[in-house]
Amino acid sequence: MKPIPYGRQHITDEDIQAVVETLKSDYLTQGPKIKEFEDAFASYVGSKYAVAVANGTAALHLNTLALGVKPGDKIITTPITFAASANCVRYCGGEVVFADIDPETYLLDIKSVRKLLEASPKGTYQGIIPVDFAGRAVDLEAFRILADEYGLWIIQDSCHSPGGYFIDSKGQKQHCGNGQFAELAIFSFHPVKHIASGEGGMITTNDEKLYKKLLMLRTHGITRDESLFQNSPEFASGSQNSSFLIPHSTFPAWYMEMQELGYNYRLTDFQAALGLSQLNRADKGLERRREIAKKYYEAFQGQFFTKSQSGVVEGHAYHLYVIEVENRLGLYQHLRENNIFAQIHYIPVHLMPYYRTFGWKEGDMPNAEKYYKNCISLPMFPSLKDEEQDFVIEVILDFYDAI
Ligand SMILES: *Cc1c(COP(=O)(O)O)cnc(C)c1O
Repeated sequence: MKPIPYGRQHITDEDIQAVVETLKSDYLTQGPKIKEFEDAFASYVGSKYAVAVANGTAALHLNTLALGVKPGDKIITTPITFAASANCVRYCGGEVVFADIDPETYLLDIKSVRKLLEASPKGTYQGIIPVDFAGRAVDLEAFRILADEYGLWIIQDSCHSPGGYFIDSKGQKQHCGNGQFAELAIFSFHPVKHIASGEGGMITTNDEKLYKKLLMLRTHGITRDESLFQNSPEFASGSQNSSFLIPHSTFPAWYMEMQELGYNYRLTDFQAALGLSQLNRADKGLERRREIAKKYYEAFQGQFFTKSQSGVVEGHAYHLYVIEVENRLGLYQHLRENNIFAQIHYIPVHLMPYYRTFGWKEGDMPNAEKYYKNCISLPMFPSLKDEEQDFVIEVILDFYDAI
């Protein structure tokens, strides 16, 4: 049996064709595929706007920039996530405040967030970054109510959950990143994620002002939108008599303005072509992920060695399939000996040496720390073959003498 990773990309001939066609076109960096990808992605998640960027981390950074995070600001997030969810606050000099997870869902626990907020005067905190960890959608309706009570913004880190949703209080499906409850949401197109473009990311929002700001920040803080120009047409044209030289336009065609300190966080057109091609079959991939989850669930349900919260949850996008087990290290090694490369998601971010320098220590997040001791992510990707999954299950059951 070939090595089985915990996640991997799936590239079809169609994907390759799409990239080759774009390479033969006139555009290498941003071109027409970017807008096409953005529009298709916005319609996939149900948001008004989407902004394609270089990667998910860049998406997070542009979010904290656009929301104006500054030194002294305090932002709440979960310790069970990829470090970038927290780092984006630090890029802007803000302070990261961790709140514990719910041991049943593994998501940021709204009760522990409320406790934090209640313990300080209003205005102490500026925002919350909940993460749809493993693909399970956060109940953003509840977070919105809490955020409004305290005047906070929400960035939804949906890197694990394109296509995922939760059911709101009116019984409606609310897709991750649809902009109904969070100011901004972000996605990643890293190869292990649902949609792969090599590197790549997307921001979605329903807020036109934030959308325009993001477009500018993505390209050095430069705008070519005449209606936004701050300098005079006389300055722009370099002429005392600009109305004589260019009678039909107040600003010459070359003119642009750098108005904010932005970055180069652009995605290339050929990456957008790959992302778009992958997006076209995202629903099929999601369906397959749910099938794999169901089979794992049925295989391990009621087994003594596992706490099987990763049941079949409606709207779960199953980026990961996590189980909590006894003797996790033993199982991990045993799987490796059998060429199965499970992974651990995540080492609690507050205990990373960098975050320890801010005073975070063991015991601060009891649920997250307990979860970390037992969690293991099993192979989960659409091209995982039935016989491969059967083998994974067999090796695990055998390790615990549960066959
Ligand atoms: C992958 C990931 C990111 C970062 O995305 P990149 O594209 O790798 O920069 C951020 N948050 C979470 C939860 C992720 O899984």
